[in-house]
Amino acid sequence: MRVSVPRAASTLAKVKPRTSSTHPTPYSWINPATPGPSTSGVLAGKSIAIKDNISYDAAPTSCSSSILRDYDPPYTATCVTSLLSAGAQIAGQTKMDEFGMGSLTTHLPPFYTPVHNPASPTPDEPPRSAGGSSGGSAAAVAEGSCWAALGTDTGGSVRLPASYCGVVGLKPSYGLVSRRGVIAYADSLDCVGVLARDVNTAEEVFGVISHPDEGDMTCALPSSRQAAKETLDSHLAKLASLPSTSAPSPLSGLRIGLPAESPLTPAKSLISHLTSLGASIQTVSLPNIDLALPAYYVLASAEASSNLGRYGGGWFGSVQEREKREGESGAERRIRVRTEGFGKEVKKRILAGTYALSADEFDNTYLKALYLRQLLRQDYQNIFRIPHPLHAASGPRPNADGVDLLIHPTAIRTAPVLGSKPAKGETEYQQDRLTVPASLAGLPAMSVPAGKGDDGWPVGVSVTGQWGMEGLVFRLGRAIE
Ligand code: GLN
Repeated sequence: MRVSVPRAASTLAKVKPRTSSTHPTPYSWINPATPGPSTSGVLAGKSIAIKDNISYDAAPTSCSSSILRDYDPPYTATCVTSLLSAGAQIAGQTKMDEFGMGSLTTHLPPFYTPVHNPASPTPDEPPRSAGGSSGGSAAAVAEGSCWAALGTDTGGSVRLPASYCGVVGLKPSYGLVSRRGVIAYADSLDCVGVLARDVNTAEEVFGVISHPDEGDMTCALPSSRQAAKETLDSHLAKLASLPSTSAPSPLSGLRIGLPAESPLTPAKSLISHLTSLGASIQTVSLPNIDLALPAYYVLASAEASSNLGRYGGGWFGSVQEREKREGESGAERRIRVRTEGFGKEVKKRILAGTYALSADEFDNTYLKALYLRQLLRQDYQNIFRIPHPLHAASGPRPNADGVDLLIHPTAIRTAPVLGSKPAKGETEYQQDRLTVPASLAGLPAMSVPAGKGDDGWPVGVSVTGQWGMEGLVFRLGRAIE
């Protein structure tokens, strides 16, 4: 389905300066576009920002990279088309770590100002990171510049900034939201996610963008969605029919797991609140969870090195860069455009990924990481009592003593001060320790604000469920917020 973009919006966005913005809150916005005319629909008049790696043909889409500085996508991503069809207005594009690689939204081209976390408890605090890579989207929602925002989450890029900025961040089950028009980082992990101020809003936006799409072959088919719906309905019916001594409460019968291996546990007050709403809590074991971070960085970098191979020819790079220079061969131009166009972090990932895929390293690195991913997926399936909707007939039997959902803190700490030296065990890569496992397993996970840390900055708790069980994730999320 194609939506025609209002002309005014299209013209205005394209002539907007890229280096600064006239928006009152310049940290989050790259190209504030003129909102389209209100139309009818479930999102009529709602202003939604989109991360700068989601194609929108009314504005340049740069992935916050010099190499795509002049890139005007020829079409609009399916998820944005769905928002527009539902009456939403696209409020602007938000800054991100270049190509989604990073956890702090600090890997930016030199012509973008940094994103500051707006959740500061006092005005004179030194600026802190909004998290990454969807830091612009999270900050835009937290500062109230838009009603909701789209981000992308490959290994935590929606959940981590949500936790740092004190908003809700949903990474849906892999394949439920079309990736058509979303500029790829690592295809087997990339998910379009939602940032919002509350769980109901996240659910509303998810309801609009989650649908089959023939333009993305990894997008779940109607039959898979139906299987997920039937699995959820039957589980909810089971919960509702459990004998109860007291009046039914929102979490009656729900079993929640706390991963034994998690370095951090949610606050005791949260646990007793959930128990008072009818949930039971048990400890579960995911023995391979500590291997998730290295496996993730091998797989994500390998896929990125392959995906980013397409940049540097005659099509990408800024207009001046891609112009062939006097006496320059095609290969020389490619080297120059890539050397100038990619930032340091992206180059690092390309090198690491290319190494993992090289003939000498492939078995020892890439295949091992794939194997670890498989072990981790199995760990999750071993602890859930809800069957995987797509493998119900062929997969292992669900664990009757297992849990329905997992909870754990989203991040290992609150937002770090921008430019500060990380403490031991808190490097940028280690920030993702608690978010990458659900990404590798393709499961839905949502970070929900859960109070403040000792320093007064927001803390988020993540809820993870079986594939396709967003309905249960939202239910528990509502009880936490
Ligand atoms: N921080 C992780 C990375 O750099 C995750 C990023 C993401 O989810 N896009 O790869």
